[in-house]
Amino acid sequence: MATHLVWFRNDLRVTDNRALHAACEDPEARVLALFIATPAQWASHSMAPRQAAFIRQNLAALQASLAARHIELFYHQCPDFTDSALWLVEFCHAQRVDQLFYNRQYELNERRRDAALEKALAGTVLCRSFDDSLLLPPGSVVNGQGEMYKIYTPFRKAFVRRLTESDTRSLPAPKPRHTDEVARHRLTPFDYPQQEPDGELYPAGEEAALAQLRRFCREQVEDYSRQRDQPALEGTSRLSAYLAIGVLSPRQCFNRLRTECPQMLEQQEGSAFGWFNELVWRDFYRHLLVAWPMLNKHQPFVPWTKFVPWRRDEAAFEAWKRGQTGYPIVDAAMRQMNQTGWMHNRLRMITASYLVKDLLIDWREGERYFMSQLIDGDYAANNGGWQWAASTGTDAVPYFRIFNPTTQGERYDKQGAFIRRWLPELAAVPDKFIHQPHRWAEQHQHVLDYPAPQVDHADARRDTLAAFEDARRHAQRLEDDGLSEDRQGAGRWAEENTGQPY
Ligand code: FAD
Repeated sequence: MATHLVWFRNDLRVTDNRALHAACEDPEARVLALFIATPAQWASHSMAPRQAAFIRQNLAALQASLAARHIELFYHQCPDFTDSALWLVEFCHAQRVDQLFYNRQYELNERRRDAALEKALAGTVLCRSFDDSLLLPPGSVVNGQGEMYKIYTPFRKAFVRRLTESDTRSLPAPKPRHTDEVARHRLTPFDYPQQEPDGELYPAGEEAALAQLRRFCREQVEDYSRQRDQPALEGTSRLSAYLAIGVLSPRQCFNRLRTECPQMLEQQEGSAFGWFNELVWRDFYRHLLVAWPMLNKHQPFVPWTKFVPWRRDEAAFEAWKRGQTGYPIVDAAMRQMNQTGWMHNRLRMITASYLVKDLLIDWREGERYFMSQLIDGDYAANNGGWQWAASTGTDAVPYFRIFNPTTQGERYDKQGAFIRRWLPELAAVPDKFIHQPHRWAEQHQHVLDYPAPQVDHADARRDTLAAFEDARRHAQRLEDDGLSEDRQGAGRWAEENTGQPY
């Protein structure tokens, strides 16, 4: 009897799991499952403790679903990827594994780990990997020259064409194996800081995720375009935490959406298409990671932005983190993330823009801080979002378009309903002044228990424009002097002026 091992990583579900499905195809095979926790690796990528706890909760749910199918889940904890690969080789030999099944991850470290593992197992264990976590695999949506798109809209057009030709069916969960009931190993706590997510907002398990998906597609998606930019409303799906660790697959989202809105893809407009569009952005950022490996190393996509002279200002950065900038929409958003692990998309754009363009603090600092808090932390989406806001990324907001945090608040939280939820110290401020509470306090001689704005937006905007323009001119001069390829010269300049290695 052949032994098949399924290595679960970012795919903690039994339904529509390509690796698991393939491993179970042979009814005679003995199927085992495995999860390896790597806390030191997680810490080096600033994974939020809430996300680690969410993984653990979903792992327990996965273990129960697998046990119901008579599949034993083994569990191991070791510091990092290198150790996990070494341990896995031993495990395969000890369990006499014939075939190893896993779903691909696309980040560089993960790809390197898998390549090393396959090499170590060559000749003894057949490794079978699957594209599972995206609607379409990286490298499959390319332009006429066979290259990955740099701009989103043509990518999406080509993506839709490709998708209609592809097999996007969701696979059923495997049937119970014809074997005895299996042991359930104790899932010891991760060796990681503990912070439990809110169980009401994020019930664990794929059934809870699927129920949320069904509810959203049936009852809410028609209002998505109208509501998605208003943080005071529950206008988005709130599925990102499940998608980030693979409790839900994007195919399940796509197929459920098409069931509810069958014409969505053909019409290419409307609210349902708007939601589908976000799933495509999710794919886009992962496709970029594979096409441009430097993106895995926190390098900007637009080379000249390496020369932006970011400011070091610990006090300002701390105030931003704590939601004490004096700009209510920024502070309410930061407190929402700090307290729940999730932040509304519009607010991610506003808070990121504020850090980079008002405080001129390096986007990588913000990127890291977001990862340390988000329950839906996802390297590709987070890096893509930060590079978008910082104007360093592909198809990013132009550097000269700078969000005004006051008018953004006025536009997307007109009455301040969202702000009031997170900033109780502004309860007495009338709606008219909720975005500029200090004006009200001055006029009425009130003492507010809320900081004054950290910076004057108009001044900050002017300084940031000048900093970006200097950086652009500097890069142009290097190029004119034939020095743009002179990595030493450029590197010295970048290190001296930005503190970042070139
Ligand atoms: P919905 O609006 O219901 O969207 C459905 C799904 O589409 C989401 O669950 C998500 O998987 C995907 N999606 C939506 N918007 C985007 C987007 N702009 N880019 C990529 N995928 C998207 N998303 C993450 O999943 N993890 C992150 O770490 C992350 N960091 C971000 C950082 C910044 C600075 C910005 C601007 C955006 C970031 N996003 C991130 C994208 C987006 O904000 C979240 O996916 C979204 O807010 C999640 O809420 P939802 O599930 O209700 O989204």
